Amino acid sequence: MEFSREKRLKARLAGDRRGDLYPHSLQFYLQPPTENISLAEFENFAIDRLKLLKVVENLGVSYVKGSDEYKSRLEREIRKLKFPFRALVEDDYDARRKDHISHFILRLAYCQSEDLRRWFIQQEMDLFRYRFNELTGDLVEKFLKYVNLSYGALTARSLPAVQSDERLQPLLNHLSHSYVGPDYSIQKNIGKISLEHIDALSVKSFPLCMRQLHKALRDNHHLRHGGRMQYGLFLKGIGLTLEQALQFWKSEFIKGKVDADKFDKGYAYSIRHNYGKEGKRTDYTPFSCMKIILSNPPSQGDYHGCPFRHSDPELLKQKLQSYKIPPTGITQILELVKGMHYQLACQKYFQLTHDVDDIGFSLNHPNQYFAESQKLLSGGREVKKEPSEPESSQQKLSSQKSTSSCSIPISSNTEADTELEGLDAYFTED
Ligand code: SF4
Repeated sequence: MEFSREKRLKARLAGDRRGDLYPHSLQFYLQPPTENISLAEFENFAIDRLKLLKVVENLGVSYVKGSDEYKSRLEREIRKLKFPFRALVEDDYDARRKDHISHFILRLAYCQSEDLRRWFIQQEMDLFRYRFNELTGDLVEKFLKYVNLSYGALTARSLPAVQSDERLQPLLNHLSHSYVGPDYSIQKNIGKISLEHIDALSVKSFPLCMRQLHKALRDNHHLRHGGRMQYGLFLKGIGLTLEQALQFWKSEFIKGKVDADKFDKGYAYSIRHNYGKEGKRTDYTPFSCMKIILSNPPSQGDYHGCPFRHSDPELLKQKLQSYKIPPTGITQILELVKGMHYQLACQKYFQLTHDVDDIGFSLNHPNQYFAESQKLLSGGREVKKEPSEPESSQQKLSSQKSTSSCSIPISSNTEADTELEGLDAYFTED
C-alpha cells in the first residue's frame, strides 16, 4: 500500500478490473492493497474499522455469538459504517475496497505487540465468522476455491519499512492506543461544578478509577504525580475552572504534610500548566481509558490507573463489595476482568450502579462515563430497562471462552496526546 499526502483518491482500478479485484464480498485479505490513498482516507477507514471491531467485541460478550440479536445488531453496524453487509450484494465495490484497505491499516497498527495482536485477531475472527456464516452453500464453495488457504502472517515483517515513514508511524501508534469519542479538553461544563458537590458526584457519577483517586486524596490529603495528572485532568474535563482546581487541591494538600507556601511553590504551577496557563500553554486533554489502561502502570503508593486492569482481583472484589455491588454483578465483573475486557467490566459497573440493563453507549473515556451518568441521573436520556434479558451475561460469560484483550477504540487527539507526554516533567514532585 502506498500513501500520498495529496488529496486524491487514485483508484487505479476502474471498470471491469474492479470486479476482478473483489469478486467476493467476503475477503481473506491475502494481498495488501497497492493503490495510493490520501492520509485523510487512511485515517477515516481505520477509525471506521476500529468502531466496527469495538462493536464486535461488545456484542461478543453481551449476546450469544450467532444468535439473531447478535446478527441483527452486527449487520446494523456494518451497514451504518458502510462495510459489505451481505455476502450476496454484488455492487458494493466501495465497501469491499474499504473493507480491504481498513483491514490492512489495522493490521499495521495492531501487529506491534502480542496483546494488541490478540485483540485484533479475536475481533477479526468473530467478524469473519459472522460473514462466513451468512454465505449460502454455493458461495462458501466458491469462496473457498477462490482463496488459497496456504498463507503466512506477514504484516509485522513489513513494519520496519512503515516505521521509517514519519507520517504514518505516529498515526499507527495512536490508532492502537486511542479511543473513539469526543475531545474532552473542550470544557462544555466549565464552571458548572461546585466543589461542595464533588464528594457526592464521586459516588454517583465517577468511574471507579476516579472514585478511587478521589477517596485516596480525601484519606491521605495527597496524591502522587500519576494520580494528580489522571485525576486533575479528569476534573478539568468535568468542568472545574482553574481557580476551583487550585482551591480544591490546596485545601486538601494543606490538611496533610504540605503547607500553603510549599503548595504555592511546588504544586500550583503544575495545575496552571495543566490548564494551559504555563509552559507551552497547551490545553491538555483528559486521559482516555486506553491511555490509562496501557500506559504508566501504578506502583506501590499510587492510586492512578484503571482498577479493572491494575487491581488485584481479590482487592477489586472487596472494593466492589464495599460499594454494595450485588454478588452476581461482582462475579460478572470479575469474569470480564479475567477475559481482559476492562472497559466492558467498567460498563457493567455503570449498569449496576445506575440500575440499567443497557447503558446505551460504548465506554472509551472516564469523562464520557461521567457525562453519561449525569445525563441519565438528570433524566436527559431515556433509560432502557428491559424486563428480562434473553440470556444473562453470567450465562453468556460462562458459555464463552474469550481470549481477547482490552477494549480498543480511537480519537483525533493525536496532537494533544503527544503534547501530554511533555507534561510529566511538570509533575515530578511526589
Ligand atoms: Fe476508568 Fe476507563 Fe478503567 Fe472505567 S475502564 S475505571 S473509566 S480507566
